Amino acid sequence: MAKVTIDGHSVEVPDGTTILQAARLIGGDIVPPAMCFYTPLKTSGGYCRTCIVNVTKGSEKDPRPMPKPVPSCRQTVMDGMEVQGITSPALMEARKGVVEFLLINHPLDCPICDQAGECKLQDLSYEHGLSKSRYEFERRTFEKIDIGEKIKLHMTRCILCYRCVKVADQLCPGRVHGVMNRGDVAEISTYIQNAVDNDMSGNMIDVCPVGALTDKTFRFKSRVWNVNPFDAHRDCKKCAGKVRLWYKGEEVFRVTGRKDAYDEVTDWICNECRFDKKKTSDWIIDGPTKIDRASVISQNHYVLKEPAHNPNLNSVNVVEEKFQLENKNNK
Ligand code: SF4
Repeated sequence: MAKVTIDGHSVEVPDGTTILQAARLIGGDIVPPAMCFYTPLKTSGGYCRTCIVNVTKGSEKDPRPMPKPVPSCRQTVMDGMEVQGITSPALMEARKGVVEFLLINHPLDCPICDQAGECKLQDLSYEHGLSKSRYEFERRTFEKIDIGEKIKLHMTRCILCYRCVKVADQLCPGRVHGVMNRGDVAEISTYIQNAVDNDMSGNMIDVCPVGALTDKTFRFKSRVWNVNPFDAHRDCKKCAGKVRLWYKGEEVFRVTGRKDAYDEVTDWICNECRFDKKKTSDWIIDGPTKIDRASVISQNHYVLKEPAHNPNLNSVNVVEEKFQLENKNNK
């Protein structure tokens, strides 16, 4: 076991745990954001750099600090390690720089993007982004293309996190989808357009942290905060059959995998469950989804779950406290 202290909070974790995983065990606002790391996908992480932290003490044996910020999704903890994230103004400046880089080519078209309301980059740009860009060169733009019968790729929004590539690699045998080219001409592509017809290919939509891969059966139909999520299941031979149904009135507008507090799916679902089962009668309803994070989706719908760890740090509480304070001030 190794004891690690992150932003003043200590936790003991098994050897080999990454700083990000240790931070998630502590919970709350100290957890670094992650745009490319995704627990269910092997070898994910290490691309986007949003989860960087400062290691101010390497370990008990070798207390030297690490010379520059490290990606917390890749760096494993050592016994006695001390880490700074939100408590270091310099690190927060560095994270802000990372977000500025991510936004060089990513358009802030949130008002018309289907991912708005459940997009981590939207949150990050709100928290760290500048209102103006310093980038003076022409931005990359791409035509929207269909990859697969029901998936639309809007490459202009892609941040090359590689999550969809890992889904193709690890869930879809005989994959034809990946990253073509390198550097500023790198792009997600299929060798033959419309070729992603694998039964699990729809999971790419769920893992995409921005609105680059969207569900053609849901695209432009509703904002996510105007649909109500319900957990449901069915007996499916291809997948776990545990899904989230998004209702508007009595109509199922979309079906997605269930996600946890870090926006990671808990069970992969097949394309039949996702695209073809859009009637309530196809499902056994488990009940309304409890959104266990501060999210626009939970607004006016359901009571938020109690935070599991360090309630004083949880952003849900911060939001609630801020709300109560504002109410008090208004009175
Ligand atoms: S399309 Fe989405 S999931 Fe795939 S690399 Fe781009 S941002 Fe990541």
